[in-house]
Amino acid sequence: MNKETHVIQLKGIGEKTSQLFHKMGICTVEDLIRYYPRDYDVFKEPILIEAIKNDEVVAIQGMILKNLEIKRVRNLQIVSGVIQDASGLLKVTWFNMPFLRNSIKQGYRLILRGRVVIKNGSQVMEQPQIYQVNAYEEIVESMQPIYSLVAGITNQAVLKAVKQVICQKDVVSEYLPATIREQYHLAEYNFAIENIHFPKNMEDLLIARNRLVFDEFFLFIMALRQLKEKKEKANNAFALRKVDKVNELIEKLPYKLTNAQLKVWKEIEADMTSEKVMNRLVQGDVGSGKTIVAILGILMVVCCDYQAAFMAPTEVLAKQQYDSMIHLFETYGFSFRAVLLTGSMTAKEKRLAYEQIESGQANVIVGTHALIQEKVNYYNLALVITDEQHRFGVRQRETLANKGKEPHVLVMSATPIPRTLAIILYGDLDISVIDELPAERQVIKNCVVNSSYRPTAYRFIQKEVESGRQAYIICPMVEESENIEAENVIEYTEILKDALPPNITVEYLHGKMKAKDKNQIMERFASNQIQVLVSTTVVEVGVNVPNATVMMIENAERFGLAQLHQLRGRVGRGKYQSYCILVNGSDSKASKKRLEILNKSNDGFFIASEDLKLRGPGDLFGIRQSGVLEFKIGDVFTDASILQQASDAATWLLEEDEKLQRKEHENLKERLDKYLNHSLNKLSL
Ligand code: ADP
Ligand code: MG
Repeated sequence: MNKETHVIQLKGIGEKTSQLFHKMGICTVEDLIRYYPRDYDVFKEPILIEAIKNDEVVAIQGMILKNLEIKRVRNLQIVSGVIQDASGLLKVTWFNMPFLRNSIKQGYRLILRGRVVIKNGSQVMEQPQIYQVNAYEEIVESMQPIYSLVAGITNQAVLKAVKQVICQKDVVSEYLPATIREQYHLAEYNFAIENIHFPKNMEDLLIARNRLVFDEFFLFIMALRQLKEKKEKANNAFALRKVDKVNELIEKLPYKLTNAQLKVWKEIEADMTSEKVMNRLVQGDVGSGKTIVAILGILMVVCCDYQAAFMAPTEVLAKQQYDSMIHLFETYGFSFRAVLLTGSMTAKEKRLAYEQIESGQANVIVGTHALIQEKVNYYNLALVITDEQHRFGVRQRETLANKGKEPHVLVMSATPIPRTLAIILYGDLDISVIDELPAERQVIKNCVVNSSYRPTAYRFIQKEVESGRQAYIICPMVEESENIEAENVIEYTEILKDALPPNITVEYLHGKMKAKDKNQIMERFASNQIQVLVSTTVVEVGVNVPNATVMMIENAERFGLAQLHQLRGRVGRGKYQSYCILVNGSDSKASKKRLEILNKSNDGFFIASEDLKLRGPGDLFGIRQSGVLEFKIGDVFTDASILQQASDAATWLLEEDEKLQRKEHENLKERLDKYLNHSLNKLSL
């Protein structure tokens, strides 16, 4: 076996399983050992049913009371049963696993392990893992890896495959130069790999993790420096000049731009009229008004007879930005020819859009990833804007930039990271910050409550709707399965429909819906045909419905603070007083403390730094990442010091051997080339 060996060569992996591995991005055994666990399970002794606390993962040993039942809800199959132990009964459910009815029968003695939640007033264990009693005894009290999975593959299958490779020893050789390893006290590569999958204890796990986080940051930074190298040479190929229309629009807007917006606009204007091509990141908290600054850029470009493209991370957002731009252009009498291009359009619609883009008939092009497909040829693209930058891959940003004659690039992000880190992470970009919110904006009122407050919250939502406003309710995120998430949203919507008067329209939105249906729901919500929207986090990114004034988040403790802040940013976008209700489903002190940070502050930067203080180094697993800037294993907040070390190491190495030509850097060079060709595409920042 060598690192290029295909996973199909492993014992127990056939054609079908290997295809599922492909879906997870795993082809070779090297990919496999780099498929790090997303968490670890410490398997505790089974407890008694009467001792279960809600929202905890527990193991129960007992007897299946009767044969399992299957119920269909929309496109989900729900298998349910009851397990009994000496202290009582517990309901259990599985989603879309109808075959269980044949493998689990009345009278079986088993251990079921899963999260227990309250559904319709009673306790249910959802999607439990199933163990024979003696098999469970073997793993009890050990640390077992948990992998992210795709449908059809089990954690056990991944675990076994990884184990086979690791048993072979040193399939991948060390590639970090010894000097760097010594300087930063980094573990040897194969030690790290073995202990990230199968840690013997917490200490070894942290040592292993430290090394792999370093690797991840180091490769990223090395790659970034190479990209920057290429970029710096690009000259501005466009005859752009300052145009009066921009000032005209600024005068006509119903609000006054903030000083921060004006300052950033001046930087953009200066860039685009300079000798070199613009590569600029605009950072600004949610609601700071990034879009209008981007639109000023579009206006300037179009007035100079070039095309501008605006890329959004989701269809919902693309459609919304498109509609609002059309509206703005009409209101102020700009005769722009805007076109929308998204994945869910029909082939015919797309073809029409391609033609308009290629002929130059369209000069403002708004869309999703569809904008960077090969079929799209631009007439004279001079400006590319990507909204919510952190949702795109670095390479995607590159591809769009490569579409024309090196267009100007503007990326926008609400990611609240300190400037020192931003300089390392966005090394190839200049940075502007909109560090001020529009003045007349009312501060969002927050409250953290427990679930007994729900009826009061519903009455409050009703009151807001009756005075013309709208509300979002976010259902908990479910790590294990999108199916459960969808199910929760549907069920919640039914309950809410009963709780609110019939003239209030309640609808739902979740990730499993078709793009077209999602758009339709979002459009109806934007035009107030829907007053209350029950949703998963799909609304998180950038959606702008200024009439919505209530954001209620169920099980807020399950979200990262940065993500909660983004969600909250969906309200407080208009002139009305807005509210954020954080429902805390846990009684733990720690989650209370975390949510209090949001309660007290509406400032994204402050929240991120407080979040960081609360998360000590022992806290690395078992809580979600900050929800932004998702590296595979590193977290730019908690691992900020490793990020700095990796940056220093890269600087040193590139000074020593810029092209990595020395013999001792051979392995590293190979690794880096591979990274540039594969991993970088997947990483979104
Ligand atoms: P974000 O920075 O989160 O992308 P948007 O650009 O969507 O924020 O702006 C949020 C809302 O604030 C929009 O409704 C926009 O019209 C409005 N807005 C933007 N700039 C100002 C300003 N200077 N004063 C008042 N409202 C503004
Ligand atoms: Mg935005």
